[in-house]
Amino acid sequence: MSGADGAGTADAPGAGRVVLVVNSGSSSLKYQLVDVSAGGPLASGLVERIGAGDGRATHTDAAGGAFREEVSVADHHAAFAWMLQAFAEHGPSLEEHAPVAVGHRVVQGGARFFEPTVITELVRINIDELSVLAPLHNPANLAGIVAAERAFPSVPHVAVFDTAFHQTMPPEAYLYALDRDLAERHRIRRYGFHGTSHRYVSRAAAAFLGRPVEELKLIVLHLGNGASACAVDGGRSVETSMGMTPLEGLAMGTRSGDLDPAVVLHLQRRAGLGVDEVDDLLNKRSGMLGLGGHGDMRDLTEAATSGDERARVALEVYAHRIRSYVGAYAAQLGRVDAIVFTAGVGENSADVRVTALSGLEGFGVEVDAARNAERSGEARRISTDASRTAVLVVPTNEELEIARQTVEVVAG
Ligand code: AMP
Repeated sequence: MSGADGAGTADAPGAGRVVLVVNSGSSSLKYQLVDVSAGGPLASGLVERIGAGDGRATHTDAAGGAFREEVSVADHHAAFAWMLQAFAEHGPSLEEHAPVAVGHRVVQGGARFFEPTVITELVRINIDELSVLAPLHNPANLAGIVAAERAFPSVPHVAVFDTAFHQTMPPEAYLYALDRDLAERHRIRRYGFHGTSHRYVSRAAAAFLGRPVEELKLIVLHLGNGASACAVDGGRSVETSMGMTPLEGLAMGTRSGDLDPAVVLHLQRRAGLGVDEVDDLLNKRSGMLGLGGHGDMRDLTEAATSGDERARVALEVYAHRIRSYVGAYAAQLGRVDAIVFTAGVGENSADVRVTALSGLEGFGVEVDAARNAERSGEARRISTDASRTAVLVVPTNEELEIARQTVEVVAG
């Protein structure tokens, strides 16, 4: 079955509001068929180890039924062929739920892309050209775009950039204090990432509070494998912790986050590390993994609970860095209506939340222990009623945000 065959008819159920969301990595393809009207997924899937000969693939339907297969998937084209086959065999039917567009997550949009954009030949060239800034991500995103365009040739494809939401940052927030000409020549500046999540969560937080996002000053803490903080003023990003690349800012699962730049020089001069080795060290072997021996927060927390001192200190570093950013962004915003936790760690780790915000009572931030300990998949308040600043947990949904933005662009 091909995507063209699956294009369906305009009067099929859900027509006009179904989007296929694609997140393509160098060796993976993540997809979700999203019904924007219902605000949820109709199906989702993941093809892993593309090109490795021993791949794995999973397709999950709306009822949660999962189909798994060991597959050898040569490239992204083959991954899309597997996906179409999975839809045909396990549903839902792409005739009945024909996507009106395909929305692609693209990591780096540079200063060029400040909104979701219908993909044309020129857009593809620009995404490719921006690979200099995101060599691990943009080529993989592009491979997914090319394969998806072949699988779904009759619908528009839209690029939704991780960086776009942060294009509203003022120069004082995005400029590094470097030689201006040199920096411009090499496009060295802060771009910020996780923009799709920060945008979704800031709007969901406003909805939860029952207030227009335009009135609110928020600090959003996206704490997942990667982690970033964002100051959102009136619905616009005015400052974020990731920079030219996702390496800057908070301490993360395996990334160092902020570091004296001279450490990089020292590692090269004194520890004898080459450029690629430093890159690998800072991105893949630092953060919680480097400090505490575990890059996954659940494992780290478990180790700390069983008395592992390094793991405990790593968690303290993680929380300390978050607290520093909360303070910095409070000063930039001048007032904070809500601090919002999201993503894997932010949504699930009551310990991280309470430790990160401890000692801020004098600034009007008070976490309620019982509310914080409650587990729920819904948006919720974890601050005390007396807390001047609300503290919220709001589950992120990047796929839904990409689907919504895609529909908006396509609808014109
Ligand atoms: P994400 O990138 O948003 O999928 O987040 C992944 C991170 O969330 C990993 O470090 C997980 O260990 C962490 N995580 C997921 N569930 C929990 C939990 N219950 N407690 C602590 N961390 C969690």
